Amino acid sequence: MRIEEDIKLDFKDVLIRPKRSTLASRKDVDISRTFTFRWSGKSFTGIPLIAANMDGVGTFEMARAFAKDGDGLTVALHKHYALEQLEKFYDEQGASSVWYSIGMVRDDEEKLAQFVKNGRHPDKLCVDVANGYSEHFVSFVKKIREKMPDTTIMAGNVVTGEMVEELILAGVDIVKVGIGPGSVCTTRKMTGVGYPQLSAIIDCADAAHGLGGLICADGGCTVPGDLAKAYGAGAEFVMLGGMLAGHDESGQEVIEDGGKKYLQFYGMSSDTAMKKHKGGVAEYRASEGKTVRVPYRGGVAGTLQGILGGLRSACTYVGATRLKEISKRTTFIRVSQQLNTVFGNE
Ligand code: 5GP
Repeated sequence: MRIEEDIKLDFKDVLIRPKRSTLASRKDVDISRTFTFRWSGKSFTGIPLIAANMDGVGTFEMARAFAKDGDGLTVALHKHYALEQLEKFYDEQGASSVWYSIGMVRDDEEKLAQFVKNGRHPDKLCVDVANGYSEHFVSFVKKIREKMPDTTIMAGNVVTGEMVEELILAGVDIVKVGIGPGSVCTTRKMTGVGYPQLSAIIDCADAAHGLGGLICADGGCTVPGDLAKAYGAGAEFVMLGGMLAGHDESGQEVIEDGGKKYLQFYGMSSDTAMKKHKGGVAEYRASEGKTVRVPYRGGVAGTLQGILGGLRSACTYVGATRLKEISKRTTFIRVSQQLNTVFGNE
């Protein structure tokens, strides 16, 4: 047994210190970015924000709404669409606004193989497992990279530098970072395993950038300021689940209760998801996700406007003309828990 004594931080443990700025208005801030990916060689230009591959978030409806804005926002489609539905979507909408998602299960692999065999190309792929630390996962990613040399691969999740390096060397363009911070995730409670998300981003970004790779901060953002902190800490992409739940684009039934409207939102390894997609919780694994009700919030466009407005404003506070500059201009200050409850992080 060993104890690491240095303190690891979450979003709620810090604020960003304001800096002198020449920017007159948040309208002057450019929050889109351009990247060329290490392995696929493909380029991306757009706002580096990704809707999580969860039921109610990573939907076709969300992807259509994102594509309409033309800002380059993307959606990781959830894994439970049928082959025919995916083919129809890609034929009609193209591949630019979506990530095709797979897990490390045979069904997903076979569906992807058939998708490719039928002449479609998932330009961007999200390979997603709860625990990205297994050797088997690294071999799986290597195999996919060999088969799909020009596909941009995002894979995870991990939270430490050595595993980020291993995944990048195995062929991953963007490493997904986060174990346990998700709004409907119970991994930390069920297993005691996890890593405070802000420190995970800082450590993983450093490791990735040393090898020409990128990271996506996945989970734990509850308010727009958390996105600013994630980019400030060095993440190129940020993935959102809970902040994008509860909208018309969730494709889920609206529940009315006591004069208020709600939508169900649940983790992808919750009992609810397991029952819906797999007919029950598999014996070998505990459910590591919960089910909650979130207030119905109408169309996602209004929510996005608030999120992106907050991000632009954060850039003006630190004097970053472009989102690209935010991490260089970020100084975090540690704050007491009490102070942060005022900012709505608890
Ligand atoms: P949020 O933005 O809601 O805080 O976090 C979204 C992320 O939570 C997802 O992208 C995914 O990585 C993670 N997640 C989704 N469902 C589950 C689950 O059932 N269990 C766990 N451990 N994580 C989940």
